Amino acid sequence: MNSFQHQIESPDDPRLDELCQELQAGGTGLATPSDWPRQSLALCSGHGVNRWFIETQWGGLDWSEPDVIRGYLKLSSACLTTTFIITQFVAACRRIAMSGDDQLKGELLPALASGQAFATVGISHLTTSRRHLANPVLVADRVEGGWRLNGYSPWVTGGQAANQLVVGASLRDASQILLVAPMDSEGIEVDPGFELVGLSASHTGKVRFNDVFVADSRRIAGPGENIMASAGAGSTGGLQTSTLAVGLSHAAISFLQKQAGERPELAENATALQRQFDYLCEQLLNAAEGNPTCSREALRTESNSLVLRSTQSALVAAKGAGYVEGHPVGRWCREALFFLVWSCPQGVAQANLCELAGLEN
Ligand SMILES: Cc1cc2nc3c(=O)[nH]c(=O)nc-3n(C[C@H](O)[C@H](O)[C@H](O)COP(=O)(O)OP(=O)(O)OC[C@H]3O[C@@H](n4cnc5c(N)ncnc54)[C@H](O)[C@@H]3O)c2cc1C
Repeated sequence: MNSFQHQIESPDDPRLDELCQELQAGGTGLATPSDWPRQSLALCSGHGVNRWFIETQWGGLDWSEPDVIRGYLKLSSACLTTTFIITQFVAACRRIAMSGDDQLKGELLPALASGQAFATVGISHLTTSRRHLANPVLVADRVEGGWRLNGYSPWVTGGQAANQLVVGASLRDASQILLVAPMDSEGIEVDPGFELVGLSASHTGKVRFNDVFVADSRRIAGPGENIMASAGAGSTGGLQTSTLAVGLSHAAISFLQKQAGERPELAENATALQRQFDYLCEQLLNAAEGNPTCSREALRTESNSLVLRSTQSALVAAKGAGYVEGHPVGRWCREALFFLVWSCPQGVAQANLCELAGLEN
């Protein structure tokens, strides 16, 4: 993942459209946990995509948030699996960048920017996963020079390909800590990826920690209460999740529009969905520019709604052929369901449930 000859300078760069065509072609073969999209990720890092998200002093291009949104919209419309893996990589990079520790940043970020190294996150058990259990699933104990981790991180995407894992853990007093663990640490075990409803090729599964030592020099944030909500650790539920949902909607709406070219009865629906897509893109960009016209939760709820409705509309248009394994429309429908469970805050889940039950929220 490291050649650097075709760097994409901006989201309007025609090389981004060429890259997306290649990602779209590569996406058709991604079905099982053994189909890790090595080539698509290598193409992305070769075009400098990793650098969009990293500050220039560490070898990045430091794209503005609106440009990142524009870039993500195109990538996710082409291949959701590859783009989703990139978001987990970005989540790791952003948390390392927020650590305030220049030595740690200098050690890790340049290799991540160039694609020589890959990082991912295991943090959901501090935010949206396993929160109802009496005991934390991953515990950190203070030892000389660092921390010892025992337990597991329930959801980690691309753990088998990662060199670094940004991982959250709970202390015995219920405070939390965020560390970046080298994946070759003794005692780390990556489970095989789950067979998922969609996105199985993201190789998502548990990572187990058997008395794993992580040095103090690898501390990003904490110990403290609710560290994922604190400024230093970054927040979950940002715009990127909504952006990927809207990007996938674009793939489905484009399919519908193409069909409508020969089947006029589909035109009105395609136009209505396109209008909603345009509206949500505008809302996303307004929010990214710091001028939001609705809450992020409302944006996420509407994005979830659009991705479900647009992919299922595409299935109606594709008919039985779209329901046969291998047709992209069937894959998009399964992928759209992911947005019902991915980093889904309670308010969004509740709004989705109301829509599905036909209730006013
Ligand atoms: C494909 C995929 C990739 C992901 N990748 C990552 C990643 O790279 N990094 C990361 O940090 N996270 C990742 N996540 C995690 C994701 O962001 C969410 O945290 C996760 O989907 C939450 O689901 P959960 O089943 O763990 O939730 P839980 O809340 O743990 O629910 C599990 C089960 O517990 C029961 N339950 C839930 N709440 C209650 C309750 N209040 N009382 C009693 N029983 C209850 C339900 O039966 C439920 O099925 C990923 C998720 C998916 C699906």
